[in-house]
Amino acid sequence: MNCLDFALSVNSLRVYYLSQFGTVKAVDDVSFSVGKNESIGIVGESGCGKSTLGTALLRSVPYPGRIVSGQIMLGGQDITGMAEEEFDNKVRWKKISMIFQGALNSLDPVFTIGSQMKEILKQHGYSRDQSDTIRNSLSSVLLDPSVMKKYPHELSGGMKQRVSIAMALLLNPEILIADEPTTSLDVMVQSQIINLLKKLKTDRNMSIVFISHDLGVISEVSEIIAIMYRGQIVELGKAYDVYNNPKHPYTEKLVSSVPSIKNRENKLQNPSEKFADTLGSEAGCKFYDACPYAKETCRKDPPVINHKNGFVRCWLFE
Ligand code: SF4
Repeated sequence: MNCLDFALSVNSLRVYYLSQFGTVKAVDDVSFSVGKNESIGIVGESGCGKSTLGTALLRSVPYPGRIVSGQIMLGGQDITGMAEEEFDNKVRWKKISMIFQGALNSLDPVFTIGSQMKEILKQHGYSRDQSDTIRNSLSSVLLDPSVMKKYPHELSGGMKQRVSIAMALLLNPEILIADEPTTSLDVMVQSQIINLLKKLKTDRNMSIVFISHDLGVISEVSEIIAIMYRGQIVELGKAYDVYNNPKHPYTEKLVSSVPSIKNRENKLQNPSEKFADTLGSEAGCKFYDACPYAKETCRKDPPVINHKNGFVRCWLFE
């Protein structure tokens, strides 16, 4: 397959934060592809770089971060170096859109939902009355169009999350990035939101990049899973394989940290035991200090070993 066959292709992407304390390699040589109408889940603990990766795909990395090298392809088009104005007019929200982490709290409390949605359309050059577009977008996330007239405080957490999804879908993007879309929702609402995103993906023939720390949730919604640790994807494969037959030692620990009703006797594991410090440029495997299989060779950068449906970054598979 070449990059034209994929909705999104990321090649050797590096995103660094240049601070007075040093360089934080938040995303460090990340590569993956997502097909049309396919979903990928990016999983990892807090600070591993997954949200930075999401914002980089939308070219909205917060200061002082920046894309240092690598390539982001949408279909066959390289958008990495596209002029900002062109990217804003043709790509952002139109081809690739995002539900930001904490979107529940990002709605403006002093404006109705309808006026906030109209503002998005206005910012993208839609000047005529777009009430029908807004109504349709709200209906697609199973909200009554009367929500247009409501203020955020009049909505429940689940309804606010649906509104943020409707906003992200307003301009019919081909790719949706969903950063922790179920965080701070109760379990029942989480499940409704997950089912809704699955339905939208099929109905709109859309590709989705799910970002979450919750491997259980991700394995339910994604066809492919990428496990991220300290800025790198350490394992990528079909969701079933990664969850049931993890290869990388970090993935093993991550899977053991998911509570299970069946194996109540199992002691839950702390996947990395160390704070995921991405500062510095030390060579070797980033999981070295916490890995039970670490050996001398692991002090050198581990190779990326390809297998049938993905890859693993570890000396054990050399
Ligand atoms: Fe463990 Fe070595 Fe593999 Fe790193 S490369 S995960 S230290 S075995």
